[in-house]
Amino acid sequence: MGYTPLNELKSFIEVGRNSHFPIQNLPYGVFRPAGGATPRVGVALGDFVVDLSVLDEAGLFPASVAGRDLFAGGSLNAFLAAGRPVWRATRQALLALLRHDEPGLRDNEGLRQAAIVPASRVEMLLPAQVGDYTDFYSSREHASNVGAMLRGAANALQPNWLHLPVGYHGRASSLVVSGTDIRRPWGQVCPDESQPPRLAPSRLMDFELEVGFLVGPGNRLGEPISVADAAEHIFGFVLVNDWSARDIQKWEYVPLGPFLSKSFATSISPWVVTLDALEPFRCPGPVQDPEPLPYLRSPGEWAFDVHLEVWLQTAAMEAAERIVASNLKYLYWNVAQQLAHHTVNGCNLRPGDLLASGTISGPARDSRGCLLELTWRGEEPLTLSSGQRRTFLEDGDRVVMTGWAQGDGFRVGFGEVSGRLLAAASREDAELGS
Ligand code: CA
Repeated sequence: MGYTPLNELKSFIEVGRNSHFPIQNLPYGVFRPAGGATPRVGVALGDFVVDLSVLDEAGLFPASVAGRDLFAGGSLNAFLAAGRPVWRATRQALLALLRHDEPGLRDNEGLRQAAIVPASRVEMLLPAQVGDYTDFYSSREHASNVGAMLRGAANALQPNWLHLPVGYHGRASSLVVSGTDIRRPWGQVCPDESQPPRLAPSRLMDFELEVGFLVGPGNRLGEPISVADAAEHIFGFVLVNDWSARDIQKWEYVPLGPFLSKSFATSISPWVVTLDALEPFRCPGPVQDPEPLPYLRSPGEWAFDVHLEVWLQTAAMEAAERIVASNLKYLYWNVAQQLAHHTVNGCNLRPGDLLASGTISGPARDSRGCLLELTWRGEEPLTLSSGQRRTFLEDGDRVVMTGWAQGDGFRVGFGEVSGRLLAAASREDAELGS
């Protein structure tokens, strides 16, 4: 089989030009087949899911991949731990098996029926067991906008911001897969600091448009990952909605940063788009001035040209409306730098850890990645096509994030991460809605 240019590669499964999941992508996820069988690992292909556990059982993977139980479990963790040589071998095998002119799987009707199932008939689950979730703050535009609101434009960035990728430890237990409803959280708020605080449902609910990556093999405690080795440890990317309760955050964050304002839920998309699939979309990132310290100098280009959108649908709307158009390439601190910084003190990362970018905002007004910035703390409400106005999210609002890299005649897409905000639970020990 000779070399086929990327844009000419096609599968025997028909895939539309605007599909997020052509053969060039092959993102990994964990799904439960129809009928409730045990969850297993698959890749998305057009409107289908390819069951890798079936292909493995049929002996279609090379020796380095086969028979290691990498795909029969309910998470990607074993595959993540296996490392880049195994990821590459699997991708090469899949590209060969699924292409239009390769008859092995294409013409084996029984195997094809067993291995390639309609996506509409499966349930997508969280792709990995995430042991630790870290959230960075890597968009200069986002940090500048939020800093300007809090401290004025002249002091928008803190003195450390241009020297290190600021981050904090998030909460892994409340990560949920796309489609999961989110309940408006209760928390301690103090809207008027001349008055005592009270326990109330958050009134300033927000989304945050982020992209996160899943860690591969990871490192031993005490052994940092160098910025030059980052690609060995970055498996792939998901969309992240880091739901935020701004009023709880405002009262609690001093001096240790956000806590309960973030930990009630974080949504991620089910399909993990691999670094290999995004290779053609590397591009220059923002110029970093001052130059980072040597341990943060990433070789080559580590920005990715991935178009990102946020859509909002209120309970009164029949369809969602786009309210944000941004791009992953705007991020100031890149993923190699995040990884090197996270481990420079010897902190160990483990297979399946999730490192998220922080809210991704760009230079244009409609590229701001959260409502806090879009409405400038609620001072400039959005008017939707329904005539409704929004400063922050209201009960029944559904937020959908999507993104894709545009190739020549194909898209490497992320699918979506969606979630609907439900009314707060009732509590007898606090006044509601006051
Ligand atoms: Ca965040």
